[in-house]
This record gives sequence, structure tokens and C-alpha cells, in this order.
Amino acid sequence: MKGEMHLAWSTDGEILKRAEYGGAVTSLLKFALEYKWVDAVLAVKARNGKRYGCTPVLITNPEKVIETSGSLHCASPNIARYIKEYLDGALYLKIAVTCKPCDAMAIIELAKRNQIKLDNLLLIGINCTGTLIPNRTKRMIKEEFGVDPDDVVREDIEEDKLTITLKDGTEKVKNLDELEKKGYGRRENCRRCEVNIPTMADISCGKWGVMDEKETFIEVFSDKGSDLIEESIKAGYIKVEQPDNIALKTRKRKKEDAIKRAKKWQRRDFTTLKKITLNERLNYWFGQFNQCIKCFGCIDVCPICYCEDCYLEADRDLVTGGEVPPDVLFPMIRIAHVMDSCVNCGQCQDVCPMEIPLSQLTFMLNRELAKIFKYKPGVDVNAIPPLRAPGTEEELRTVVLNSLAR
Ligand code: SF4
Ligand code: SF4
Ligand code: SF4
Repeated sequence: MKGEMHLAWSTDGEILKRAEYGGAVTSLLKFALEYKWVDAVLAVKARNGKRYGCTPVLITNPEKVIETSGSLHCASPNIARYIKEYLDGALYLKIAVTCKPCDAMAIIELAKRNQIKLDNLLLIGINCTGTLIPNRTKRMIKEEFGVDPDDVVREDIEEDKLTITLKDGTEKVKNLDELEKKGYGRRENCRRCEVNIPTMADISCGKWGVMDEKETFIEVFSDKGSDLIEESIKAGYIKVEQPDNIALKTRKRKKEDAIKRAKKWQRRDFTTLKKITLNERLNYWFGQFNQCIKCFGCIDVCPICYCEDCYLEADRDLVTGGEVPPDVLFPMIRIAHVMDSCVNCGQCQDVCPMEIPLSQLTFMLNRELAKIFKYKPGVDVNAIPPLRAPGTEEELRTVVLNSLAR
């Protein structure tokens, strides 16, 4: 039933040994594959066992699912784009996908635009409080924690703390806020992210509300998710018990605290910009755009930039062929194109070689658009994106007037 909640754990000894928080996710994926609910599992795996290099993997052998168990924080693989580009938008394969909230939201936005076949996906949402940039994290571990990054076997983000566990079992803890003020810690867009539980997935799995590390907290959001839990229990893959009031309250408090921390970062990031005049703000952004070298990285990486025939290609007369640096509006035109579907995944900023704060701009514009159109990208598969929503001239006039007044 939608809305049901469980504390769940795997019944498989090997999975219990290797996975974290009771291994329920790994067991659900294994069940889905073994019982032919899906043709494949798409999950994330450490490349060559190195936790600073993670990659999406498509698995068809149920015995291999265990290789994806455990949390990887230095990973923000572009799951939605991967499905669209390399798996034909799940047109021909049924796939169980582990996805963070921003992955799930990008999948939903692509599904609305007929780029992904949502019916063929089983979205196993993973709660998320942030991911880290691999090389910067290695530097942080060396400089701030004083240890060799290759000795780290686990990271954990809990409230305002980042904990690392070393091979010998030692734990080292640092204040996340302090690390982030120094430019370390989570990716910039993750600090501002308020969607920590993927409510748009079929189920969400996480640690908020668990009393020890032997179980996963699961919340169900769709009939498909509910059936998955029920059938996995019947087949003996997982066991569940109902969370008590303390567990529910703890989860609620942790969720609220995470949102408070995100809002604090939003205030920090935007207060300076708000204090300066409109003209100074324009100069700031034009100064940023002036650095663009037209590498097309932000276009290639954005999960919801999907036009085959991109408006910004030279032969479309909008930008001049061979002109580098390009017109100052090049990044702005791209952003305008994806504005009504941007899911704050931060991929564009991660790849920008000129370090233009693209996700800061998309977040700001997205927030304004959401206020005007009452539309939040990626949340509801049935909601029509604003730029496709039919409206009367009167409604359009109101929207334009409102936006000009801000
Ligand atoms: S943007 Fe949000 S959901 Fe995506 S990785 Fe960052 S914290 Fe997680
Ligand atoms: S514009 Fe940037 S933040 Fe928005 S969806 Fe695309 S890559 Fe993600
Ligand atoms: S990634 Fe940065 S430099 Fe490259 S086109 Fe986009 S804004 Fe310009």
C-alpha cells in the first residue's frame, strides 16, 4: 500500500556481511532480477574497488548485484542520462534502477518528454544528503583528516558531521559546516538541496529512523513499490518490521533538520547577491558568462538537455561558428532552455572547466519559476511543464507581469 513504511533487512548472509544498514536494497534488487520482474539492474559500483571512482553498471546476473552494495558518497553518476543515451530510454529493457532524488527527478522529467519509458523502470530511491567531488575529497582527507585517502573504507554524512572509517576500523569525525566553509565537503548544489527523500520513486530507502545499522528504513510511494516489498517478503529475500513512534519521529526530525541546513546554505549563497544592486548583479553574471569557452560540456552532461538538434550548434545561426569565447549569452540561452525542467543535479557546474557557478544560477532561476508557475520539476509525472502548459492570454499576462515585478 502507498505510504506504508518498514524497517527491512536482508535474509542473505553474504549480503548482510558486505552491505550496510541490513542490505535490504541489495536483496530487493536481487529478488527483482531473479524473479524476472526486470531484465537488468542499474546501480553504481566502485571502479576497480576504488571508492573515488564510481561508475554505473548494468547487471543481468543476480549473483553480481552484491558488488554494488554499500554507500558511495564520491559518486554522482548521471543515471537518467545513462538510461536515455545508452539504454534507449528503457524502451526495450525492464530495469530496476537505484537512484538518488535528483536522478529520479531527471528520470521523471525525461519521461514526460517521451525520452524514457517509465513503465519499464522500477525506481529504487536512495535517500541522499549529498555527494562529494572525488579529487577534492581526496585532498580533504589528506589535509583535514591527516590520513591516506586509500585507507578510507567508508564515509558517512549524519547531521552536521562527516565521518570516515579507515581500514583498521578507526573512525574520524569532522564538522561538515567547517569543512564546507573551507570549500570541502558536499558539492555546492547538494548543500542547497532540500529533496533528500526521493518521493517520486517507487520506494525510498535510507537510514533515517533506524535504531541501529542492521536495518533499512523503507517508504513506499507506488503500487509497484508495494508489490515489490510484499513479494520479496513472501519469497524470503527480506524481513520487515513496523517502525515504532520513536523511529517515525526520528526520521521526521532528521528530514526537517536537513531542510533547515539546506535553507541556511541557500541564504548564505544568495545573501551577498541580494545585497548588491540589480546592475551589479548583472555585471557579476555577465562577468561569469564572459569566461565561457563554449566547450559544450554543460550541454553534454545535463540529464534533461535532450534535443537532438541543439539550438546552440553553430549551423543554427544563434551562435557564430568558431567564435571563442562565444557570445556572452551562450550559457544563458542554454539555461533558459532547460529552466522549466532543471532538477538541481549540479552536473553542469561539476564539468564546467571555467568554474562558472552554473548550478547557483539554475537554482535561483528555478526557484523563481517555481513560485510563478507553481511547478516543481521532477516531482509529479502528471504535472505539465510550464512552457508546455496551455494558458489564456490573461494568465500569460499575469505571469509576465509577476516575473517583471520581482
Ligand atoms: S542534489 Fe540532492 S539528491 Fe542530488 S546528489 Fe545532491 S543532495 Fe543528493
Ligand atoms: S541545468 Fe545543470 S543542474 Fe539543471 S538539470 Fe541540467 S545539469 Fe542539472
Ligand atoms: S561547461 Fe562552462 S565553459 Fe563549457 S560551455 Fe558550459 S558554461 Fe561554457
